[in-house]
Amino acid sequence: MLDQYGRTIDYIRISVTDRCNLRCIYCMPEKGVEQVSHSDILSYAEIVRLCRIFVRLGIRHIKLTGGEPLVRKGLPDLAKEIRSIPGIEDVTLTTNGVLLGEQMKALYEAGIRSVNVSLDTLDGDMFQRITRRDLLDRVLEGLKECAGYPDVRLKINCVPLKGVNEEQWVKMAGIAREYPVDVRFIELMPIGFGKEYHGETQESIQKRLKEAYGSPRMLTGSFGNGPSVYVAYSGFAGRIGFISAISHKFCSQCNRVRLTSEGYLKLCLQYTDGVDVRELLRGGKADEEIFRVLKEAIEQKPRDHQFTVKNGRHFEQHEMSRIGG
Ligand code: SAM
Ligand code: SF4
Repeated sequence: MLDQYGRTIDYIRISVTDRCNLRCIYCMPEKGVEQVSHSDILSYAEIVRLCRIFVRLGIRHIKLTGGEPLVRKGLPDLAKEIRSIPGIEDVTLTTNGVLLGEQMKALYEAGIRSVNVSLDTLDGDMFQRITRRDLLDRVLEGLKECAGYPDVRLKINCVPLKGVNEEQWVKMAGIAREYPVDVRFIELMPIGFGKEYHGETQESIQKRLKEAYGSPRMLTGSFGNGPSVYVAYSGFAGRIGFISAISHKFCSQCNRVRLTSEGYLKLCLQYTDGVDVRELLRGGKADEEIFRVLKEAIEQKPRDHQFTVKNGRHFEQHEMSRIGG
């Protein structure tokens, strides 16, 4: 469907849990977030029912996220059920990779053909400092397992943090030299604990990569559901991407909305504006009425984020793990 600014909205990120088996310093507090009880989280049946409504609104692409989506039991079953809804073109996943090794086969069988793995370093000690868990080996196992399915598109997402993982940026990009995976640098957003760190600009990462790998070729065209800009370095098997929501704002092409694990439809990452869909579902509203409320809300999607504007309105106070990235 089109929103009030004529943007096609065909993509939703659905968070299935706020829980996580890592504690990334820019995303979660050390002790984890206050746990939401199971009954407050949308059930799989509720999520599937909503997906059937979203499809009628023009949603074609669904990303399952969290918290860590793979810590919720039966995620492949949910993926399979959503995948089977007529009109849904793809169901993809973003994960920290810790449980990917053991679940990849089931995810593949469920129809998942694109997996994003978040990984900020290849150094075990640094991984532990960033995620507060000693689980890099499990993530690497997960990547290996996923790479065993050649028709699954694998992307590695790295958040560059000044003074934290700087020495790893060139190495992270180097994964795409060896393997046919896309490595993408995601600009740190000033949300939740992200406000306590400093990200790095696309330009300065590009400068570092140029020193190591030479000048890249800009790639044009669409390579997925998102706003990533891709470049190709000579001799690389995969591409390098940049998603820079603050310094290279792409709101005019935004195609997405988000559903939190508690069933709140968020229209823009920054604002709290949205719809308490859980209340509609559990208040006995019919699909037609939910459809109408969601349509009206999506039409009103804000024009752009204003992260760089001081004292803006309704700013999101939740951690990214609550929103789903
Ligand atoms: N646990 C899964 C994972 O890590 O991929 C899914 C949820 S996580 C919130 C989704 C993405 O958000 C991850 O790639 C993570 O690095 C990113 N993220 C978390 N906080 C962020 C922030 N403040 N700025 C930019 N990206 C952030
Ligand atoms: Fe967990 Fe993902 Fe947040 Fe890291 S970024 S704490 S893996 S939800």
